[in-house]
Amino acid sequence: MPTPKFDAVIIGAGFSGMYQLHSLRDRLGLKTKLLEAAEGVGGTWYWNRYPGARCDSESHSYCYAFSKELIREWEFSERYPEQPEIMRYLNHVADRFDLRRDIQFNTRVTGARYDAEANLWHVTTDAGESFSATYLITAVGCLSTTNVPDMPGLASFKGRWVHTGEWPHEGVEFTGKRVGQIGTGSTGIQAAPVIAETAAHLTVFQRTPNYSVPARNAPLTEEFRRHVRENFDEIREVMHSNTNGHAFRISERSVFDVSPEEREAIYEAAWEKGGLQFRANFSDILTDLRANETAATFVKRKIREIVKDPATAELLAEIDHPYAAKRPPIDSGYFETFNRPNVSLVDVRANPIESITADGVRLRDGTEHKLDIIVFATGFDAMTGPLLRLNIEGRDGLALRDVWSAGPRSYLGLQVAGFPNLFTVTGPGSPSVLCNMPVAIEQHVDWITDCIAHLRANHIARIEPAPEAVEDWSEQVNVAANETLLPQASSSWYLGANVPGKPRAFMPYAGGMARYRQICDEVAARGYAGFELSAEKV
Ligand code: NAP
Repeated sequence: MPTPKFDAVIIGAGFSGMYQLHSLRDRLGLKTKLLEAAEGVGGTWYWNRYPGARCDSESHSYCYAFSKELIREWEFSERYPEQPEIMRYLNHVADRFDLRRDIQFNTRVTGARYDAEANLWHVTTDAGESFSATYLITAVGCLSTTNVPDMPGLASFKGRWVHTGEWPHEGVEFTGKRVGQIGTGSTGIQAAPVIAETAAHLTVFQRTPNYSVPARNAPLTEEFRRHVRENFDEIREVMHSNTNGHAFRISERSVFDVSPEEREAIYEAAWEKGGLQFRANFSDILTDLRANETAATFVKRKIREIVKDPATAELLAEIDHPYAAKRPPIDSGYFETFNRPNVSLVDVRANPIESITADGVRLRDGTEHKLDIIVFATGFDAMTGPLLRLNIEGRDGLALRDVWSAGPRSYLGLQVAGFPNLFTVTGPGSPSVLCNMPVAIEQHVDWITDCIAHLRANHIARIEPAPEAVEDWSEQVNVAANETLLPQASSSWYLGANVPGKPRAFMPYAGGMARYRQICDEVAARGYAGFELSAEKV
């Protein structure tokens, strides 16, 4: 059978792939195919169905902003949208823009190879199919390759184990069960309170204690919904002009501009209000360690106030990194959960997990925790993982895996030298995970779409970054990270430190979304400065 040939192949039907399909097909008129491993749209949200799964971005900012009609016709019901509601939204988008007819579901991409002579990408799938396209666009998400730690004995476990990022669609019944949860990141902090409601007993295995601020989730009032309807243009302007793409402004005052009493009152009010804007109350929380310590001390004190058992409170509050240097979670009753009689906390930093036995978890000192279900809330091989498992080969058989063996290097997180016409939506080197994702995604998709329109209008066959541009941008990514406290959380997934053997490199661009947007716009305006463009006939 001849290989079907497209103008563009997109991989992944989450927020980014769906908008990329709409843009290329309906705006540029390109023959486009989207390949998706799952049975349906949703990307990250398709797989992350764990108890308590909810977005930490506020719902009025966690949506597409490209279509006024879409904004008018969809309203989320709560301050933070829960996973099933996000799935309803994304399915609505798929229907509304008639996307499904160009999406092939149940199709996992297993390889992609650039053919220089034909100037085509050849994409292969797990079903043995092939597709060819001039442009290949990865829309595979940053947090979509699960990280299950290689714990000896897991295969011998007689109970059931699950990872939060590949949660069974039929759900998991915890009633009457002894449940062990490994991991206390954003996911574990959302899951534990819900699991504890029905489990006979929940044991939380904590390696690194984590900050968390209450989410204060609630149904949206009619008044707030009206405010969003009437002011969406202004809200979007805030999202586009700040560093992190959220709908709140970041204060310009510094921590030490105010008296200790005022500061306390500001933190207290922010704690009561809840949400990720806790860190937006001062401009220097993420750049000045002394300033950061005031926020850290406040949150640690709150933990000690909430958790009644002093030993448990200490274990939870002995946090070793600056506040928000790891992605800061927000929660619905996480610390309160440890006051329940059916919940216990185990410190696996002091006494690590040595193995999984037939009956549960065994620690180094020989203690065995008997369990019926183990929940791995152990995160992801973030950012590079989803790209590397595509087995991408560029010019002259150059493997992306080899090019990135010491950590990812790209130009603007959009392209990699040696991989012509390959675009990586929210790739490493772009703000991506440091930004409210739909904002980062729309900026990337719009930039890529404009770029492809430019190539076609000017009969340019290939675009790829100049090696010097990659060098320079990689340096800028490092500089931007080092201007913040983020690299100080040495075990963070931003650095790749959560996956054994993964090279340590700070992966997202920490210079802020607004600055990044400006850089990308300037690059395009200067005729795609830093990129090498080749004419149709060489
Ligand atoms: P994560 O932040 O990487 O946390 C993983 C947890 O598992 C950490 O507590 C880690 O401990 C622990 N862990 C890993 N391997 C372990 C081992 N071998 N033994 C013991 N503990 C181990 O992963 P995540 O919570 O899934 O979150 C990842 C990201 O997804 C978040 O940062 C966020 O960006 C996103 N997310 C967003 C939302 C939302 O918007 N609602 C919700 C969930 C997640 P260490 O810290 O010691 O490594």
